[in-house]
Amino acid sequence: MSGWVDGVGRAKRRVALVPATALLSVLLMGGCSASRGPAGWAGAPPPNGHFIWPTSGEISSPFGPRGASNHDGIDIAAPEGTPIRAAASGWVLYAGVLRGYGRVVILGHDYGLTSVYAHSRDVYVRVGTRVQRGSVIASVGRTGRATGPNLHFEIRRANVAADPLHYLPQRLPVLAEARRLPIGG
Ligand SMILES: [Zn+2]
Repeated sequence: MSGWVDGVGRAKRRVALVPATALLSVLLMGGCSASRGPAGWAGAPPPNGHFIWPTSGEISSPFGPRGASNHDGIDIAAPEGTPIRAAASGWVLYAGVLRGYGRVVILGHDYGLTSVYAHSRDVYVRVGTRVQRGSVIASVGRTGRATGPNLHFEIRRANVAADPLHYLPQRLPVLAEARRLPIGG
């Protein structure tokens, strides 16, 4: 293992067994096998600009297969305490601790979308409250299975994890590796 590895994918089965509401089970039961990225698309996508980046920092681990499981989100490396913002307006469906995820906020949005913000140090919102896009909902931490401070960020549609990069505005450099590429080379 190298870089930031949070093991959320591996922890998925146990997450589903956490004593939690039926709602949470529905939210997180998508699990590894259901994660197919773009194949999860169904119906009309949200309009461009619906989502913003939840925090600043480099992507330390992309969405997709990781070992024997699937990484259901992207990891954005940032110093502990960095503000985490709601990527879109919505409702707080969950704010608490989940195994693997640590302190986590789950927001519900239009278009059958949910967004997940894991490994937080502090959580500033309560279940059932409305949040506006860009409002600070948590801060970056390393709770749960995280080897370094990072935001594990997921976007799920009908509970199927999709690559958040399909929803977020383009940003360069997208990957940390991009920095090592010679400009114009
Ligand atoms: Zn992650």
